[in-house]
Amino acid sequence: MAWYSRLLADIPGIRHAFLDVHESAAFDKSLLVDIKQVHGADVLHFTGKMEQRPLVDGVLTSLTGQQIGIVTADCLPVLMASRDGRLIASLHAGWRGTAKGILQHCVRQFVDRGVAVEEIVVAVGPHIRACCYEVSASFYEGLVQTPARELVTANRTKLFFPAPIRPNAQSAVAREKTSQWFDLPRFCLLQLAQAGIAGAQIDVMEKCTYCAPEVLGSYRRRTHIPATKTQQVSWILKEK
Ligand SMILES: [Zn+2]
Repeated sequence: MAWYSRLLADIPGIRHAFLDVHESAAFDKSLLVDIKQVHGADVLHFTGKMEQRPLVDGVLTSLTGQQIGIVTADCLPVLMASRDGRLIASLHAGWRGTAKGILQHCVRQFVDRGVAVEEIVVAVGPHIRACCYEVSASFYEGLVQTPARELVTANRTKLFFPAPIRPNAQSAVAREKTSQWFDLPRFCLLQLAQAGIAGAQIDVMEKCTYCAPEVLGSYRRRTHIPATKTQQVSWILKEK
């Protein structure tokens, strides 16, 4: 199965999918622009052939017929497009890349290429949510050492919780008494808001990777329950 965004599906000439583990395993990754994801904030503007495999976590292109995408297992897979279908982008946004500003960098690339901020559409696929994303008490201290310091301190109570949010039978069991639960998607949405993207321009698939072992790979779940490594592929394409 796969998940789709209404906002992206409404753009003529754009195809996309957030694949589950089974479809991802069968997907031919050589179709995608080959990047090495490094939890950074750089977004490659892809214009054609590359000499070396770039160390980036996002790709933006205006080329037709070239699939771009990312591989994730808990981090946010983010797909973006301009409403006129001229530009598309794919991003891998974990807490590190998000803190370093990958979402803002990508929005800036659209704007630098003549797309108004309100003409950008953003779709977020399955990721780990605050039902399962337990972090140590010191995680907050690390986060305020990043460029996101101001945003994090101003929104601390919206981002960190003393107990898991909306846990269910499949959620991760708490490991430590002093832990907190981090709302990674909220962190990304706050960054997008700061970049000028309104809520109506964003689709979020509120499916937790940890909570869905039958269809989604979760890095965190594998650290608790040893299992074969599985990941999700998310892709977007401008049709010829
Ligand atoms: Zn969960």
